[in-house]
Amino acid sequence: MKRGLFIALLAPLLGFAQLPDLIPAPKKMEIKSKTFTWKAGMSFYCPPAFANTPCKLTLWGLVHQYKESSTGKADISVTALPKIPGYHSEYYKLSITPKQIRIAAYTDTGVYRACMTLWQMLPPDWAQTRVTGFTLPCVIIEDQPDFSYRGLHLDVCRHFFPVSFIKRYIDAMAMHKYNVFHWHLTEDQGWRIEIKKYPKLTEVGAWRNGSQKGRYAEQRFDSLRYGGFYTQDEVKDIVEYARQRYIAVIPEIEMPGHSLAALTAYPQLSCNGGPFSVAKGWGVFDDVYCAGNDSTLAFLKDVLSEVLTLFPSKYIHIGGDECPKTRWKTCPKCQNRIKTEGLKDEHELQSWFMQHMEKWLNTRGRSIIGWDEILEGGLAPNATVMSWRGTEGAEAAAKQGHNAIMTPGKPCYFDHYQSKDSTEPIAIGGFNSLEMVYKFQPISKGIDSSLRHFVLGAQGNVWTEYMESEAHVEYMVWPRAAALSEVLWTGHGGNFDNFKNRLPADMQRLKAIGVNYAPHLGSKP
Ligand SMILES: [Zn+2]
Repeated sequence: MKRGLFIALLAPLLGFAQLPDLIPAPKKMEIKSKTFTWKAGMSFYCPPAFANTPCKLTLWGLVHQYKESSTGKADISVTALPKIPGYHSEYYKLSITPKQIRIAAYTDTGVYRACMTLWQMLPPDWAQTRVTGFTLPCVIIEDQPDFSYRGLHLDVCRHFFPVSFIKRYIDAMAMHKYNVFHWHLTEDQGWRIEIKKYPKLTEVGAWRNGSQKGRYAEQRFDSLRYGGFYTQDEVKDIVEYARQRYIAVIPEIEMPGHSLAALTAYPQLSCNGGPFSVAKGWGVFDDVYCAGNDSTLAFLKDVLSEVLTLFPSKYIHIGGDECPKTRWKTCPKCQNRIKTEGLKDEHELQSWFMQHMEKWLNTRGRSIIGWDEILEGGLAPNATVMSWRGTEGAEAAAKQGHNAIMTPGKPCYFDHYQSKDSTEPIAIGGFNSLEMVYKFQPISKGIDSSLRHFVLGAQGNVWTEYMESEAHVEYMVWPRAAALSEVLWTGHGGNFDNFKNRLPADMQRLKAIGVNYAPHLGSKP
């Protein structure tokens, strides 16, 4: 018999409580005898160091209508640890004794992560029922993540999702200690963010006259007008909502490809002047921003100027993937740019374009992330590479001294099938089972140990061509994103059977916050 199972069976007899089913698993958890009883009228104490931080709201939410104490003797008490060299900003220690719940952390981020652990120890529907009188096992948890970038992405362009859905998406991320939401806001099939200087981006670019239906090969379309966008007020609301949950929102404004919606609104930004229509179907399109036209660059800087006022994130994602060079090859302006800048070919023109935008963003205190195609024709000096066509992009970036984020299609694309069951809803293809996600190693074999610090972390990507409804998105994301959260927090997948045993409790928690999930555990890799 496995030792863990033996202890679990014996625990109630010995007066031990059951180990809590936490996801991601904490680094170190020691279970003690006795229990803490969750009472009515509990108090909490938050030290002055964290007084004006969002974690206090979360503490307040945990005790709800109860009272704030002015001393560390409160039922839930937080200690601000003195910062020591090499401290980890997300470190926390959570100690539960029969008398008190104590959280110690260097930063409010650490306090928040501890709160999420504590939240997972409460009854799954506790937020709704606010029951009292249940017990928590006495434990000492010491915890911190392995990777500083723990991301989840969402494409709101192929299909559009309302603010309420985005908030629920962020709630589920926060519960699993994710810290980056990559928001894919512009595409061939729709422009989704209000830009005040260019109203046609959303008046025209946010709407298409039909959508592709069924499998790609069928080339079947409906003719329903489809679209939507987020106003700047809604964007601010979401960014603040995420901030309160210690999640950074990184916007993606795609360039120079995947730009047909913008070109439909402003055809003069293209090489041949259009006219265009917002794409109904999926795929890659030849019409892209003209890299030889100075007014196209000026337009993108205007757009980014407004984006920067909405997103305080260190990183801005500027795409760079899947940009056909067809139009550039025959465009006099693009060819002239190649000549005047002394570039070798259209690949170097793309590189020039991305570096131009990067420099502009760098002078405004931001760094760029781009898809791994930005390696072609030379990498912009401070760029972070998001490696999606396998792990090679990240490996090449690290060798060049650049940061990288792992998001290889296998197994980080949650738009792939998760089960081989014939009843699965139509997906883009591929197969990434829960177990494959759980066994993912973000530090691939091609990353030399001396370069591993260049790998900031990894991300699950959610492209929504085949996901029309909120429930369908969540079905594809959970529980695979729960598996990835544990990989990123602990640094590697652990024992899959152990993870599976903890999953039913996680699913109960998702259900309690209204998040759908795939109830099966996928099929074997
Ligand atoms: Zn051109």
